[in-house]
Amino acid sequence: MKKILVTGGAGFIGSHLCERLLKEGNDVLCMDNFFTGQKQNIIHLFDYKYFELLRHDVTTSYQVEVDEIYNLACPASPIHYQFDAIQTVKTSIMGAINALELAKRIKARVLQTSTSEVYGDPEIHPQIESYWGHVNPIGIRSCYDEGKRCAETLFMDYHRMNNVDIKIIRIFNTYGPRMHPNDGRVVSNFIVQALQNKDITIYGDGSQTRSFQYIDDLIEAMIKMMDTPKDFIGPINVGNPEEFTILNLAKKVIELTDSKSKIIYQPLPSDDPTVRCPDISLAKQHLQWNPTVKLEQGLLKTIDYFKETLKL
Ligand code: NAD
Ligand code: UDP
Repeated sequence: MKKILVTGGAGFIGSHLCERLLKEGNDVLCMDNFFTGQKQNIIHLFDYKYFELLRHDVTTSYQVEVDEIYNLACPASPIHYQFDAIQTVKTSIMGAINALELAKRIKARVLQTSTSEVYGDPEIHPQIESYWGHVNPIGIRSCYDEGKRCAETLFMDYHRMNNVDIKIIRIFNTYGPRMHPNDGRVVSNFIVQALQNKDITIYGDGSQTRSFQYIDDLIEAMIKMMDTPKDFIGPINVGNPEEFTILNLAKKVIELTDSKSKIIYQPLPSDDPTVRCPDISLAKQHLQWNPTVKLEQGLLKTIDYFKETLKL
């Protein structure tokens, strides 16, 4: 039985990861300060004998004995990471240092959940891992983008200088059950709006693109990445390369929910990337992994979740 720490374990991705690790018979310690995470996401996990919860802020150092660390703690939606931008930078950077210091001391393997945002508003499409990105260092998204970029730097330097056993994945837009209904991300916003027959808010003209990955595909890749040989550290892209415009997403959600909602257009926030799509050749090659859930299939599961949660 492996002892595994999941920071940010009460969040959207973290709660699915904890659940999968418990189902595989591991001893799981979930650490969270509940900034964006919810007890509701993990309440069912207390049925497992080997699940533990520690309320702790990762910007402060911590000592635990584990074999593996998945470092997820960080708000991920623009609304939440911009709410307290300084805390977001601290969470990314001090959270990375604290996870790496612990991994160094106890010789644990540590996986960093980086992001497609390290590519910024990309000039190369689809994005490959060797692309260094096109990121505004002083804009409203910078606290997240640069925080995550610096965290990657720290992971690489702890690896080079202290031989810490690291893995880095760059996650592209992921959706599914347990997204927070007020989280502000596009999939949850559109579904909640459509189910309530409220206006669907498109920022800009809706021509910007994203590639949406269903949560189960991501969790599969995370576990496979953690189990790769020590000399394979990444970074690797993990996402679904099927690309959609935001307008098409809105139309799809209206169709699948049979909604009476109208589409309305609002100003595009600054630095909003115009395109985003992962090149997943590396993940295919090293993880023998391919996303399997089609957008429509994943949206239907997410719609069912929000119908039940919001009693709609
Ligand atoms: P989320 O907001 O649902 O989860 C983040 C969790 O971290 C929450 O439970 C929150 O309470 C916790 N947290 C935040 N600051 C903390 C702190 N200082 N100390 C302890 N806990 C803290 O977001 P998510 O979508 O589950 O994202 C998880 C990770 O995956 C994040 O690091 C995010 O950057 C990364 N990621 C997510 C996506 C995506 O599409 N969801 C894409 C790229 C990268
Ligand atoms: N978006 C939108 N309406 C919304 C929420 C988001 O049009 O109600 C757009 C947003 O401007 C961006 C895309 O959808 O172009 C994805 O936004 P999200 O916040 O989900 O993720 P990110 O921008 O970080 O990829």
